[in-house]
Order: sequence, then C-alpha cells, then structure tokens
Amino acid sequence: MNKYIEKVLNDVKTNNYGENEYLQAVEEVLLTIEPVVKKHPEYEKIALLERMIEPERIITFRVPYINDNGKAIVHRGYRVQFSSLIGPYKGGLRFHPSVNQSIMKFLGFEQIFKNALTGLPIGGGKGGSDFDPKDKSEGEIMRFCQSFMTELQRHIGKDIDVPAGDIGVGEREIGYLFGQYKRIKDVYEGGVITGKGLSYGGSLVRKEATGFGLIYFMREMLKYNGNQSLKGKTVTISGAGNVAIYACQKAKEYGANVVAMSDSNGCVYDPEGIDLALIKQIKEQKRGRIYEYLEMHHKAEYIESINEDSPIWEIKTDIALPCATQNELTLNSAKKLVENGLIAVGEGANMPCTKEATEYFLSNNILLAPAKAANAGGVATSAIEMSQNSMRYYMNFEEVDNMLNNIMVNIFNSCKTAADEYNLGNNYIAGANIASFTKLAKAMEAQGIV
Ligand code: NDP
Repeated sequence: MNKYIEKVLNDVKTNNYGENEYLQAVEEVLLTIEPVVKKHPEYEKIALLERMIEPERIITFRVPYINDNGKAIVHRGYRVQFSSLIGPYKGGLRFHPSVNQSIMKFLGFEQIFKNALTGLPIGGGKGGSDFDPKDKSEGEIMRFCQSFMTELQRHIGKDIDVPAGDIGVGEREIGYLFGQYKRIKDVYEGGVITGKGLSYGGSLVRKEATGFGLIYFMREMLKYNGNQSLKGKTVTISGAGNVAIYACQKAKEYGANVVAMSDSNGCVYDPEGIDLALIKQIKEQKRGRIYEYLEMHHKAEYIESINEDSPIWEIKTDIALPCATQNELTLNSAKKLVENGLIAVGEGANMPCTKEATEYFLSNNILLAPAKAANAGGVATSAIEMSQNSMRYYMNFEEVDNMLNNIMVNIFNSCKTAADEYNLGNNYIAGANIASFTKLAKAMEAQGIV
C-alpha cells in the first residue's frame, strides 16, 4: 500500500476510535484512490488527504421538547459541516434513534464526493438527531422540529449550509423546520432548505429524484454492460420510504417486475408484482407497517426480520436495490443473492452493503452501482430547487426530470471514464471515488492551506 495512504489510514483509526461507520467510509475511499495518490506525491506535503477527511466543523446541540404527556424530553442534535470546497455545505437531516457522531460523519464524508459528482456547486454536510419520529403525534413532531431549528438556524443559510431530508425527515418535517427558520430570522429565504412542499418553494421531481435517479443510473450501467435493460428483470427493493417507493415506480415504468419491498420489521413478497399504489397508501398516507399489505393481497407473503440478514435478500432476483440504511446487506445475504443468479446491485441507501458484501459482489463480477453515484439524483435535484428559489421561477416536471436524467447519465459516464483510465474494468465504486476525488483535490490545491 502507498505509504502516505497507510499513514493517513492509521492516524484516522487512532483519532476516530470506535467510529466504525466513519472509518468504513474513509477506508473505502482511501483504498480506491491509491492510483491517483501515487501519481501526485505532492499531496503529502500539503496534507491533502488529512484535510479531506477532517470535517471543517461539527456542531452538537441540545434539543428539548415537551411530549403530549407534558414531560420534557431531551435529544441530541448534530450538524457536520464537512466541506465547503465547491459550494455551501449541503446534505440531509436524519431523525432516527441510531443517529450518533460516527453515522453523521460517515454521511457527511460521503456527501462531499457525491455532491462533486453531480457537477453542481454544492459542498458536503449532514445532520440530524437521535429522535424517533415513529409513533409521535403531529404536535410532538412539530414541537421537536421547532426546537431543532431554534438552534440550527444560527449555523445555516442559503449560501452557508442548506439542509434537506433523509431517514425520518420528509416533506412534513421540512415544512415545520422551514416555518421556524422563517419565524426566527424574519426573512423568506427559500433556498435555505430543500425538499420543501410545492406550495411554498419546493421543486417538482424532488420527491421522486433519488429513486428515479437510481434507476436512470442502473439503466445506463446495464446498457453499457452487455446492452441489457430493466425490461423483464426481477427486482427486490429494501425499505418502503422515499427512495424505495420512487425507485419502484421508475423500475416498473421500465418494465421490471418488482416482487418485494420491506421495512425494519420484515418484507412482503408478491410474485405477481408489488402493488405500489397500496404501498404508497400504507407508507405515505397512513404511516403504517408493511405487513398491512397482506390485508389487500392475501396471496402475498410476509417474512419477518429476525436477525441482521434481512429476509428480502433470500428472494431470487436479477437486481437488488438496497434503499433502507447503512450496512443492511451483509456477506451472508450477498452470498445468497449471488447463488440465486443476481446480475446487479444498485445502492439507493448510503453505504448499504457491508465491506465484506461489497468485496464479495466485486469478486463475483456483479455489477455494482455505488451509492455516492447512484443515489446522487436527490441532492442534484435539491441543487436545482435552490437554483429555482434564486431565480424565483419554477420549471415544470418534464424540465426537471430531463435535467435529472442528464445528470445521472453524466455521473455514470464520469464513473466509467475514471474506471477505464485506471484499467479498473467495471469497478464503478473506484470510478466514482476517483472521479470525485480528482475534482475535489484540484479545488483544494487551488484554494491553499485552509
Ligand atoms: P425514509 O425515512 O423515507 O425511509 C427509510 C426506510 O428504510 C423505511 O422503510 C425504514 O423502515 C427503513 N429503515 C430505516 N432504518 C432501518 C434499519 N435500521 N433497518 C431496516 N430498515 C430501516 O428514508 P429515505 O428513503 O429518505 O432514505 C433511505 C436511505 O436512502 C438512507 O440511507 C438515506 O441516507 C438514503 N438517501 C436518501 C435520499 C433522499 O433524497 N431521501 C438521498 C440520498 C440517499 P422503518 O419505517 O421500519 O424504519
């Protein structure tokens, strides 16, 4: 291994002890960019890698609110402002009990590279809280969001840091967060947050963008590798949230047969094809559980999750789309999928495959669309939302969708070109990391030691 990379990897492990998700994300990037670092020995003198992996700033704060029983509850809020190299910090907010500093840092780190791949002027950041919105009343959600923004507003702005949604933060939460920002700042600053509702400055296609973008990337990857297409392919999709639902919609539009979706309790398997209208009703309108699907489709099967190997990956499929959360697809699951004839994996979630599962897929020549590239459609459309807010002009659905499609084609081409340049075959993980790192390294060199 290159000595400089080896030293940085050792230091990052010592300095971030126990932050396993963050270390996993950094290690993946550093190991895949080795051929670029070898070509640029000057990086060591200017501590380019050390500066790339150290967040510019981490803000943690107290978020108190009063629940419906009149009891005060305290949560911890985070905003990791990782890099403003190529634009204002940009990245979502996650409300989930698992949120901690390691998860925030890994997501912020990934975001820098993802945002660079979009070709748009956005830096990288991430935030959130260990608050669990599940089973909370509307009043509790609103009070929590208002309390969260009461502190966050000091640190964000349309040219400073622009949050959006992520797990547990959808259009409802974005509305409450934006309302509180406006109230405190006394300014209508539309571009301070993205994923807004269409009635007050949101963009058409933002809701669909991550899922649609994932399928656009998959379409390009399949086309380039053996002129394949989604038509007639069997697809399984983990999760039943924003990313999963719109990936399902676009995959169906392209003629794929989506046979399974899931939530954190289990998965539904419907060999006749998932009834997406029903999933939307259960998840988007009722905020219910996925097993309720069986009330309408008696022939479908519900399989409960009993351990870390999600049952959805036991189902025979051509294409697997993990769209729930990090490290949700383990080595055991990867082996099962390959044994069952898998062709391709598309990462809708951030870092959904464990390190071992990723290595197994690559060594078995499975096409893998890496998260940084394949799920970048969401943040790209957020940047398009920011542009529309600045222009005070709104584009129609087709215009935004065409822009998203072009961006995803360009992202695939960047990954392919970088992989080709370094003779890495169809390793698009390395391609994505090299393409984005090269761009960021140039910006870092140009801006001096800051
Ligand atoms: P949502 O909150 O809309 O949906 C998340 C889904 O994943 C739910 O079905 C949820 O099930 C499931 N899930 C969450 N945590 C776990 C867990 N620990 N184990 C199993 N299932 C789980 O989130 P999104 O769809 O927005 O985000 C999904 C993934 O996509 C995340 O990794 C996110 O970072 C990534 N992403 C999202 C973007 C966006 O635009 N929204 C953009 C780019 C990436 P349950 O209800 O049971 O918790």
